[in-house]
Amino acid sequence: MAGNPPKVGVLALQGDVREHAALLEALGAEVTLVRRPAELAAVDGLVIPGGESSVIDKLTRIFGMQAPIRAAIADGMPMLGTCAGLIMLADTVTDAIEGQESFGGLDVVVRRNAFGRQVESFEAELAIPALGAEPVKAAFIRGPVVESVGPDAEALASLPDGRVVAVEQGGLLGISFHPEITGETRFHERFLERVRKSPRASA
Ligand code: GLN
Repeated sequence: MAGNPPKVGVLALQGDVREHAALLEALGAEVTLVRRPAELAAVDGLVIPGGESSVIDKLTRIFGMQAPIRAAIADGMPMLGTCAGLIMLADTVTDAIEGQESFGGLDVVVRRNAFGRQVESFEAELAIPALGAEPVKAAFIRGPVVESVGPDAEALASLPDGRVVAVEQGGLLGISFHPEITGETRFHERFLERVRKSPRASA
């Protein structure tokens, strides 16, 4: 029904889970912290937070979540990945630790920790026409960069030097930075819009 709040999950194994949950709740969603397959099965969309992708990868495998999340991606479940979450959604990851795996889904190559040591974090204002005229205030915290965008994915935002920092492919949205800590709500709104429109949500 149109009036029902969208049911979404935040993958809650590591990272800035609470910030995403609070923002999604403020936007009217019903939020579940997802650690187990049954919790994933009960939601219609998933946010993969920032944190440390190698740790998120390890924990998802320990908790038996890798296969269910890959299956949900294949099934078209909308997902929003920020920072480490973008790394988890990338088909190919460079500068990963030995044995590190991702879920995949976004036809991109993503480089971890791409902004080097000197500039570990910074803020930038980005023009993202797909989100409206107002620029996006983006906080980069040891973020990845999208080194190449394959034919199935689309670049949504770039830094002034041209490096891609937000991509979209079907219901998957991946961004290098942290909108949840700068009061930027439009990526989460876009994600919730996808969830509302997805056929799963009405099932
Ligand atoms: N450097 C982290 C990683 O490799 C990402 C940083 C973040 O999510 N803020 O996963």
